[in-house]
Amino acid sequence: MSVFNAYMSLSGATDADVLRDEKLSRRTSYRIGGPARLLVLVHSYAALGKVVDVLAEEHVDWVILGKGSNVLASDAGYEGAVIILDDEFARVTVDAEQGTVTAGAGALLSKVVADAAKAELSGLEFCVGIPGTVGGAVSMDAGTRREWIGRCVRDLVVYRPGEGLHRYEGHEIEWGYRCTSIPTSEIILEATLALKKGERAAISADMESRLARRRRTQPMGKPTCGSVFRNPTDGSAGKLVEACGCKGLSSGRAQISTEHANFIVNNGGASAADVLSLIQLMHDSVLANSGVDLRCEVKLLGFGE
Ligand SMILES: Cc1cc2nc3c(=O)[nH]c(=O)nc-3n(C[C@H](O)[C@H](O)[C@H](O)COP(=O)(O)OP(=O)(O)OC[C@H]3O[C@@H](n4cnc5c(N)ncnc54)[C@H](O)[C@@H]3O)c2cc1C
Repeated sequence: MSVFNAYMSLSGATDADVLRDEKLSRRTSYRIGGPARLLVLVHSYAALGKVVDVLAEEHVDWVILGKGSNVLASDAGYEGAVIILDDEFARVTVDAEQGTVTAGAGALLSKVVADAAKAELSGLEFCVGIPGTVGGAVSMDAGTRREWIGRCVRDLVVYRPGEGLHRYEGHEIEWGYRCTSIPTSEIILEATLALKKGERAAISADMESRLARRRRTQPMGKPTCGSVFRNPTDGSAGKLVEACGCKGLSSGRAQISTEHANFIVNNGGASAADVLSLIQLMHDSVLANSGVDLRCEVKLLGFGE
């Protein structure tokens, strides 16, 4: 693998910015993570094909990153290239007549939610307060226990390395709890969401009450990654962790949130190793206490996965 050759080929030659040894702590909501050997901000569809081809030619592994709000990056960083979809991928178009919002994978989910509400389109209220991009949300099938974004996806455009663009109908994809059937080798480029006509006041009221609930129950203003574990069927991961007496426990500068036991907060200067040791502690304590084998929701980056 020649990261250097890939850097030389891509620098200045494509509609992309290529950074060397960019700290992932600057790109993840935990504010944790060592350097990515390459970080490529891709500005256009045309550039994405070129970037992926060059990385393949140079045998450089790559991964797509949205806003890093569901990723724990290792302290050692990532040996390959982290690709971020920018500019042309951040477009959002609302068709109020058709009741659709078409958004690039790099668009902020919060903007999509706000634009839909402004156009009096209902159906995305449950996404209010979920950080990150449309690509990240689709990849994770983000949502709540009862509502998830896959239910709104009418169609999806992805990039298949070596092949080109491919369009899925929403119903062709299996949407699961924080997972989908979209292969990890495919890059999500754009989603069209089908919504229904609503009333501005009702949409705003619903969003406000959901935000208020988040403010009441989740740690605000501290670096986190949201829920660490998926909720088991008919159970709450947070309650299971709390029942073990783990709430508030620390490892280094990382702490199991005192507000929500399924969140880990970075109290400033936490390492990935600190967070991982808490994840292990939470998992093992719950298994010993209640026999439930919790499954991690957070994606690991740079751990040799
Ligand atoms: C305070 C807080 C609250 C949260 N609340 C919720 C919640 O209520 N519900 C919920 O579901 N999540 C929640 N999350 C988790 C997180 O916000 C979501 O999973 C979000 O959708 C991730 O988006 P992202 O852009 O940050 O993706 P990232 O974290 O950057 O990436 C997540 C995964 O998606 C992949 N990915 C990203 N973009 C693409 C793409 N274009 N193509 C292919 N793969 C891609 C990445 O490779 C990675 O595997 C919360 C997080 C925080 C910090």
